[in-house]
Amino acid sequence: MADFNAAQFIWSLRQGQDPSSHDIAEFARGLADGFVSDAQAGAFAMAVCLRGLSEQGCADLTLAMRDSGRVLCWDVDGPVLDKHSTGGVGDCVSLVLAPMLAATGIYVPMISGRGLGHTGGTLDKLDAIPGVQTMLEQSQMHDIVRRVGCVIASATADLAPADRRLYAVRDVTGTVDSVDLITASILSKKLAAGLDGLVLDVKCGTGAFMKTMDAAEQLAQSLVQVANLAGCPTIALITTMDEPIAPAAGNALEIDASLRVLTGQDYGLLREISLDLGQELLAHHMALSPDVARQKLVQILDSGQAAETFGHMIRLMGGPTGLVDNWARYLSEAPVIQEVPSPATGVIQGWNAQTLGEVVVDLGGGRRVEADKIDSAVGLDQILRIGTNVTRGQPLARVHAARMDHAQSAVAKIQAAVEISNDPVPSGGSSILARIT
Ligand code: URA
Repeated sequence: MADFNAAQFIWSLRQGQDPSSHDIAEFARGLADGFVSDAQAGAFAMAVCLRGLSEQGCADLTLAMRDSGRVLCWDVDGPVLDKHSTGGVGDCVSLVLAPMLAATGIYVPMISGRGLGHTGGTLDKLDAIPGVQTMLEQSQMHDIVRRVGCVIASATADLAPADRRLYAVRDVTGTVDSVDLITASILSKKLAAGLDGLVLDVKCGTGAFMKTMDAAEQLAQSLVQVANLAGCPTIALITTMDEPIAPAAGNALEIDASLRVLTGQDYGLLREISLDLGQELLAHHMALSPDVARQKLVQILDSGQAAETFGHMIRLMGGPTGLVDNWARYLSEAPVIQEVPSPATGVIQGWNAQTLGEVVVDLGGGRRVEADKIDSAVGLDQILRIGTNVTRGQPLARVHAARMDHAQSAVAKIQAAVEISNDPVPSGGSSILARIT
C-alpha cells in the first residue's frame, strides 16, 4: 500500500489511461481493509462509468475483488458449477436447477442474493420455508454440498468484501449501471465460490434490467469474456423476460411453483428455462451431446430425484422433513385471494413484467428500503402466458394480499400491465434469444 496513491490512480483512470493490475489490486485491497475512503470509492466508480475499462482492466478488477476475501476451495469428486441470473420476475430457476444438477453428480455451491428493485431474490424465497437458514458458516456450506451436492446460501462477510463496499457506494452515487462494474461485481462473488464453470442467464425484456437486446448482449459479452479470461469457462444465454418465468411471483408462491416443476406438475416456462441452462452446463462439463444432456435432466426431474435432492437440502438447512410431500402445509397463505378479470377479449400479446414485479413489492413481498420486512405469503399466481386466448372477465391471474384494499389496487395495476389484441401470437418459440460463448 505504501507506494500506492489512490488519488493519482483515480486521476489516471479519469484521463482514460489503462490501470495496471498492481494498482487495481491495491485499490481493491484498500476497499476491503478501509484504506480507500468512500469518497475515493465513489470517484473510482464514476471514473469507470464515464471512461470504461479495457477487457483486461475489467478482468483485473474482477480478480482483485475476488481476492479481497476468501476464495472457497472444494475437495469433491465432480465439477463445481453454478448459474447466475441477472434478475427477473417469477425467476425461481435456481430452486429447480441446483437440485437437478446435483442429482447428476455436479456440485453446486450457489451464493444467492436478496430481491433487488422489482425482481425477487432466491434467499427471500427460501425464507418462506419455516426453519430454513440461508446465512451459513462456510463449514456448514461444505458439509451440505458434500452430502447433497448443492446448497443455496448468502455470501459470508469474508467473500469478496471489496465488492460489498463498492456496491454500497455505487448504490448511492448513481454508478450502478456500468457494464464494467456490474461484470466485476457479479463475477467477483461467483469466482470466490471456487467454480469450475458457470452458465449465465441474462434476462432481456419488460421485466429485466436490460430492456433491449443491445444492452443484454453487451452485458452478456462482457461477463463471458471476463469470466473466461479469469479462468472460469462460462457461457451465457440471453432469455426473454417479457412475462414471468414461473406462473407466479412472490416468495411462498414461487416455492410452490418450483415444487410443482420438481414434482412433475408443471411443464411450463420455468421447467424449460431450467432445462436449457442445465443442458449447457452438462454438455460442457460432462462431455455430453446437448440432446443426451437434456434427456438426462428430464429423467432426473421425471424420476423425482431432483425433488428428493431439494427436500434433502432443505432439511439440512433447517427446514421441515416432509416439505416435498406436502408443501402447502408449511407455506403461509395470504388472507385475501382475488382473481384479476381480463379487461378485454383476445390473445395475450405481452405483459409489462416490471409492473407485475412492482405489484409484488407493493403488496409487501419485496423491500423498498433495506430494513423492510417481507410478507412471504403475498404475490401473484395462476398468471396466464403470452399467447393465451382470453375472454373479457376471465381470470388473468390471482392476487394474494394481506388486505382487501391492497388486492383491489393490485388488480387495477395488473389489468393495466397486460396487452390483449386479436393479433395471432406465434406459439412454441424458444425463450432463448441468443447464446454467447
Ligand atoms: N448484481 C450484483 O451482484 N452486482 C451488480 O452490480 C448488479 C447486480
